[in-house]
Amino acid sequence: MSAKVIDCVAIADEIKNKLQKEIETLKKKGVTVGIATVLVGEDFGARMYRKQIEKFCDEMGVQYTDKNPPADASEEDVVKDVKTLNETDSVSGIIPLRPFPKQISDYAIINAIALNKDIDCFHPYNMGKLTLGEITFAPATPSACIEILDREKTNFEGAEICVVGHSNIVGKPISILCLNRNATITTSHVFTSMAGNLAKHTTVADILIVAAGKAGLITPDLVKEGAFVIDVGINRVKLLDEDGNPVLNDKGKPKSKTVGDVDFDAVKEKAGRITPVPGGVGAITNMMLMRNAVKAAKIQHGID
Ligand code: NAP
Repeated sequence: MSAKVIDCVAIADEIKNKLQKEIETLKKKGVTVGIATVLVGEDFGARMYRKQIEKFCDEMGVQYTDKNPPADASEEDVVKDVKTLNETDSVSGIIPLRPFPKQISDYAIINAIALNKDIDCFHPYNMGKLTLGEITFAPATPSACIEILDREKTNFEGAEICVVGHSNIVGKPISILCLNRNATITTSHVFTSMAGNLAKHTTVADILIVAAGKAGLITPDLVKEGAFVIDVGINRVKLLDEDGNPVLNDKGKPKSKTVGDVDFDAVKEKAGRITPVPGGVGAITNMMLMRNAVKAAKIQHGID
């Protein structure tokens, strides 16, 4: 039987509507919810992400501030910019958009963000609190995974969960959030794969959360029958025709499409529930960021 495909776009829309009302109510109380991004230079991926954040701010009545020092800005100057944003009342949350140029250390910027404006939980203090289960802001993508699992009434206690990927912003915090809910966690990564042990861990998982950034990594043989598969990965791949040849656009260039880390069509025949890509975790991630911005504004204004 084919898996239930989770309608993440519908979940995101529902959260968006609820947040929009909350933002309106706060506005009436004189509280501005605002997000600032810090992008140093002109990195393409970071600019794309910034555009997305700006669009959501505009749609949802959130004030947007763009801090964009030039690529040759000094670390000291960018830290100064962050400190100014810390002091700006209309900025509730600050999002550093990486990668930064070589002369700027990620940690110098992240450590400069005020703890109660760190809405994607980059600061080591907030990550420490997350680990202890005293969460102020859980990072957006891991929160999106938890939101999906909660809405599907997942019983975390004792559940076997395998997370593929152990990055600081996705795999590691997802593992911690699930562990805090008393699940049994296996966190696998590239060394697990290199040791030939990936299947050993993924095939016993009731819940498989994949955040590796490798298109087609998860095939049906790596999935337990009936498992809940959450695909966090976002990859651009060439669009191929039935014979495996690249499909070309009007200009003769290969067309591309967005896929996850899971071989969706094949795995959906084995899994019990599955999230798609596109229109999956990413849609909810954006709303988690907005939810944290609203929470930050409330904290900063002493509102429960
Ligand atoms: P990352 O920093 O590159 O981390 C990828 C992780 O996957 C690493 O821990 C890596 O292990 C592991 N990995 C790579 N190849 C593997 C393999 N063959 N077998 C097992 N593990 C493997 O990426 P990230 O920032 O965590 O993002 C992961 C993916 O999620 C990307 O596709 C990204 O675009 C996507 N993403 C989606 C959202 C969303 O909202 N949907 C948000 C953020 C990111 P090692 O560290 O040991 O090399």
